[in-house]
Amino acid sequence: MYRESDPAALGGKPASPPISVLADLAEDDRLALQALGRFVCLQRGEALYLAGEPEPPALFIQHGLVRAMIDLADGGGALAALMGAGEAPGLGAALAGDPAGHAVIAVAETRGLAVSGARLRQLVAGRPRLLDLVFRLLAAQALALETEIACAATHRIEQRIARLLMAMRDQLGRERFELRQEELAQMVSVQRTTVSMLAHGLKAKGLLAYRRGVLQVANPAGLAAVSCGCGAGPRL
Ligand SMILES: [Zn+2]
Repeated sequence: MYRESDPAALGGKPASPPISVLADLAEDDRLALQALGRFVCLQRGEALYLAGEPEPPALFIQHGLVRAMIDLADGGGALAALMGAGEAPGLGAALAGDPAGHAVIAVAETRGLAVSGARLRQLVAGRPRLLDLVFRLLAAQALALETEIACAATHRIEQRIARLLMAMRDQLGRERFELRQEELAQMVSVQRTTVSMLAHGLKAKGLLAYRRGVLQVANPAGLAAVSCGCGAGPRL
């Protein structure tokens, strides 16, 4: 489902945003974690895993952006979280040894260290600093999910779209990125025609530009003013 990437390609300083999780670990913990995993590269649109997959890996993201999507019983879906550098989708299911409860799909090319749950459980059991890191990542994921739930229940679709686009811009570190309206519609759980209408309104205000699946945040300050701002505060 994904291919391994050249570890050498991950060396040096990333253009943006800064890597945190692996770089912040003590060297012996980092080397032990790297020895158990493998570096992978997900192409845009590629799934790390789908809902129901047994024994999904945890992915310690170094660069890029993924969306965790929950399947709903009526055939629809909802965004659980956008996750970028320094975050680790799949961590909860991997540690619990459970099948994946959601799908993880790359929004942009995403690189990171994939580690199987069984290996990760054994490793963290003997390494308190790694265990502390895992707890902090899981707490941050719980907060991100709570934020998505509160945002979806409270804020208008236009606010949520502006918020997601600003989050993508900030995570990817650039104003232009590929994104189809269909993907945005899936993330805010509405029809594509609704997203199309709202995107047209944001374009008319000079906040957005888009053409052939490439979107540009034309006025970040203006788009931020439309955004509800959920989750934009300090992350754990
Ligand atoms: Zn919100």
